[in-house]
Amino acid sequence: EAKPVLGDRHHPFFSRQLLIVRENSGKIDPEKIGEYIAVGGYQALHHAIYEMSQAEVIAEITKSGLRGRGGAGYPTGLKWATVAKMPPGQKYVICNADEGDPGAFMDRSVLESDPHRILEGMAIAGYAVGATQGYIYVRAEYPLAISRLQKAIQQAKRQGILGSQVFGSGIDFRIDIRVGAGAFVCGEETALIASIDGGRGTPRPRPPYPAVSGLWGEPTLINNVETLANIAPIIKKGSGWFSGIGTEKSKGTKIFSLTGKIRNTGLIEVPMGISLRTIIEDMGGGIPGGLKVKAVQTGGPSGGCIPAEHLDTPVDYESLGILGSMMGSGGMVVLDENTSMVQVAQFYMEFCRGETCGKCIPCRTGTVQLYQMLTKILNKQATTADIEKMKLLSEMVKATSLCGLGQTAPNPVLSTLRYFPEEYEALLQPAESGRVSGS
Ligand code: SF4
Repeated sequence: EAKPVLGDRHHPFFSRQLLIVRENSGKIDPEKIGEYIAVGGYQALHHAIYEMSQAEVIAEITKSGLRGRGGAGYPTGLKWATVAKMPPGQKYVICNADEGDPGAFMDRSVLESDPHRILEGMAIAGYAVGATQGYIYVRAEYPLAISRLQKAIQQAKRQGILGSQVFGSGIDFRIDIRVGAGAFVCGEETALIASIDGGRGTPRPRPPYPAVSGLWGEPTLINNVETLANIAPIIKKGSGWFSGIGTEKSKGTKIFSLTGKIRNTGLIEVPMGISLRTIIEDMGGGIPGGLKVKAVQTGGPSGGCIPAEHLDTPVDYESLGILGSMMGSGGMVVLDENTSMVQVAQFYMEFCRGETCGKCIPCRTGTVQLYQMLTKILNKQATTADIEKMKLLSEMVKATSLCGLGQTAPNPVLSTLRYFPEEYEALLQPAESGRVSGS
């Protein structure tokens, strides 16, 4: 089948997409506020401030069913309500733009192609929870996104949309940018806050949650880029419209970065509930060279592999979780029948081993040991007992690590063991006769 050509609306790669977050991508000049306004930009913010109470805005977001797109899927309205309930005083809104999963560039695309949408989402959030200051924490590896955000903030200030008088209403909301220094763990909210605070970017135990005690000890709302990009359309079109898209518990759309052994790669925005098969076979055009799909890795280093027999699984938070993977921030790597699943597990473990912040022992030493165990297996030096030990260590690292990085780092190991035990078995020392049990 022919490769999709940009603008070919009939090709399944495009026709199966539903654009909410990326509706303006490629259509407007991201460096001109006038173009954003011309397509209805900032109307939602104006409407929220002049026509809705703060409680009504939060109720609308809650009713929409929007959940955090950064990975965990926490209900956005609930997070907003928690910050709003905190006593009046200094509060903050943070946009988490520290996207770091290997092969994932969903947030980067939104920031570069439609920066005003993020500012609008943040300003609505600021109004709703009573915050006057916002920060966008964006990774240094995204220079174009940073420069476009800077321009967008300047333009919005000049137009009186950001600053001490948002649309002349007396509401104060400012946004500044903080550039991350490349640590994957700074995508974890408490590490991100520590980094803006001026401290070392490492996570801390929760509670207290940032909604109660965040930046400089004040109530702080942290949402990911894609979550904030959904806010303006929800306010403009209503929670009923948004909640009509997707599944019972996962509403709206999700952007995925479709990569790996697949014909058509790139960003796709699809309604929640679409099957993996539709994404891979229809939109992605299948695997080149007539090879079969072996598995798909969702959720990057935190997720797991989903074997081909589960390709009819709907893409939503719950279904992917049941299979031992997760939605994550949107990485989707397709693996063909020639892929070694043990190598896949080793690849992600190498990533986690390099990115562990070292604060807690299970993750600091566990990721190193797991990497060594996988290497031993790949070198055909392991026994069944080694694999049992690796399984035990994986469970221990999951259960005892301080933050999400360590808690999810063993997922690629556990999911490949669960679905592909025979691949581990085939790599055991020649004299070994024991069987590897899937977890
Ligand atoms: Fe740091 Fe890993 Fe512990 Fe998280 S789990 S605090 S990344 S050492």
